[in-house]
Amino acid sequence: MDTKNLGFNSKLIHAGAFEDALGSATVPIYQTSTFRFKNAQEGADCFAGKSDGFIYTRIANPTIKALEDSIAELENGFGGIATSSGMGAVTSIYMALLGQGIHMISTASVYGPSRGVIEQDFSRFGVEASFVDTSDIEQIKAAIKPNTKVLYIETPSNPTMELTDLEAAVKLAKEHNLIVVVDNTFCSPYLQKPLDFGADVVFHSVTKFINGHADIVGGIIVTKTQELYKKIRHAMVYMGCNMDPHQAYLVIRGVKTLSIRMDRAQENAIKVANYLEKHPKVAWIKYPGLKSHPQYELAQKQMKGPGSMISFGVKGGLDAGRKLMDNVHLALLAVSLGGVETLIQHPASMTHGAVSKEDKIKAGITDDLVRYSVGIEDVEDIIADLEQALAKV
Ligand SMILES: *Cc1c(COP(=O)(O)O)cnc(C)c1O
Repeated sequence: MDTKNLGFNSKLIHAGAFEDALGSATVPIYQTSTFRFKNAQEGADCFAGKSDGFIYTRIANPTIKALEDSIAELENGFGGIATSSGMGAVTSIYMALLGQGIHMISTASVYGPSRGVIEQDFSRFGVEASFVDTSDIEQIKAAIKPNTKVLYIETPSNPTMELTDLEAAVKLAKEHNLIVVVDNTFCSPYLQKPLDFGADVVFHSVTKFINGHADIVGGIIVTKTQELYKKIRHAMVYMGCNMDPHQAYLVIRGVKTLSIRMDRAQENAIKVANYLEKHPKVAWIKYPGLKSHPQYELAQKQMKGPGSMISFGVKGGLDAGRKLMDNVHLALLAVSLGGVETLIQHPASMTHGAVSKEDKIKAGITDDLVRYSVGIEDVEDIIADLEQALAKV
């Protein structure tokens, strides 16, 4: 079916799907490592790129391709590259775009391992990087060097909920011929489409909102051009960061309900944020849907909605935050985010534990910061859970 002119919700259901010989209503799981060629000539043509037949699942697979085509269409990109995990997407992008003597500018409060793999691993191969507050365009400008090739942005950033102005950042990057990469995990294409703002590469940890059911780990990359698609797919295939067909099948199933899940979670999050903002034991709250967020206007401009991630601090700092986390019952004390269930975690000691104390302070990851991922339960139950836990603080 040609889905190009359909609306977003129709695309969620139909984009990427293909008709198979048996008329399957859903995309079947092609649980096979390899594919038979009809004859030697066809095998040779597949390898030479003259035929688009399937060869081997690390390279491409019909179930995985259906997911790649779907997300590429949802992000308005050229093509999709599914990966074993979100970090498989990050490292495939780094491997394709960075190299000896190349410098990258990145958001200071990025997802911890996206920074750690540069500082601890890619640095050993001569890759340079500056981690700056990309919500301040002047800081990006000041960090540009003659060997800067990539601008890597996470917006909203994890876990500080700071936004980077995509339009302004892309404009600056283009003046300096930088490739712009955006981690769109916190938004999904439902809330934000970075390629529409001129970014070159967008990617997701599909573990989060896109799959949305906390039952698989995966990643996906979408590029604007064929050239970048080929470069990054090469890195993914050669490093063996491919997704598995069964994993792809589950993600395809999750994608279908992306907008209805996110609508409900966001509706709940707005109510939870308003509740927390007024609570006497809450010291501060950062949520792009609150007028108190310093970039409320920017959120209105570049995001379709504020999403369902909230960061806040409890009066009494780390000890008070720990008490809260030990006393919630409905919210699971667990890392990850974007699932149907409400989760709570402590970034300074958990997801960002590997970032040095000094860098955490610079990135705004304070000891009292609690990250809350609002699920799709009844909002009255979510608030009652917080109410009883905060009473014990
Ligand atoms: C989880 C996450 C990642 C890494 O994804 P995995 O699927 O855990 O490998 C990258 N970026 C952000 C913003 C994330 O939340």
